[in-house]
Amino acid sequence: CGIVAYAGGRSALDVILAGLRRLEGLGYDSAGVAVLVDGGLAAAKKAGTFADLHAELAERPLPAGTTGIGHIRRATHGPAVDANAHPHLDDSGRVAVVHNGVIGNSGELRDELARRGHELASGTDTEAAAHLLAEHFSSCGDLAEAMRQVCRRLVGEFALVAVHADEPEVVVGASRGLPLSAGLGEGELFLASDDAVFAPYVREAAAVDEDQVVVLHRDGVRITDFEGVPVDMRTYRVEAGD
Ligand code: GLU
Repeated sequence: CGIVAYAGGRSALDVILAGLRRLEGLGYDSAGVAVLVDGGLAAAKKAGTFADLHAELAERPLPAGTTGIGHIRRATHGPAVDANAHPHLDDSGRVAVVHNGVIGNSGELRDELARRGHELASGTDTEAAAHLLAEHFSSCGDLAEAMRQVCRRLVGEFALVAVHADEPEVVVGASRGLPLSAGLGEGELFLASDDAVFAPYVREAAAVDEDQVVVLHRDGVRITDFEGVPVDMRTYRVEAGD
């Protein structure tokens, strides 16, 4: 339903929660965040409203971090319960994924992952992408390349965004059929399903178009197709937000 990701110098949690609030008009049944911290990953997610997520964060605060991802969910696969809220993590807890849309072959992928010994903790289509991404990362050691390999296996419409504890300042995203764009700030980068998220912070953005993967890292933004071929970035001006 709604995606917000941040890599920069501010508190990722604060930026993500404020960004998700800008999307709440879409209607949602769950919300969650994951932040990269001290070589690891910390996540919080709740079915219900932002008040439920805030109560969870008050009870179990996340350590501070400057890179993270967040999501508001409108369930398509699996009911609105905490376990089905995004982000979804793999068994190791080192990769976190948020997702808008539907992964049409998730049943098949979930069966395949279960046969390889993965323990799936949710009833969602999304979780298959988290486990697959972790597998591909362990063989290629590069989150963007792992994302491209995973996307080539997915059927359906999706915007996917992920972080990995082994790439502490990197956010990777992918799009097929659903909106995703990168907000280009000074010393900070955003990734969101709607420009309203980053309009208060940036004046320029880059669209992540059909079948493209985007990487946000310290040196900037890079976009390729699902085969890894760099594409010319389609940048545009973002009107000032409040
Ligand atoms: N299909 C995913 C789910 O059911 C994502 C739904 C959404 O776009 O929020 O969790």
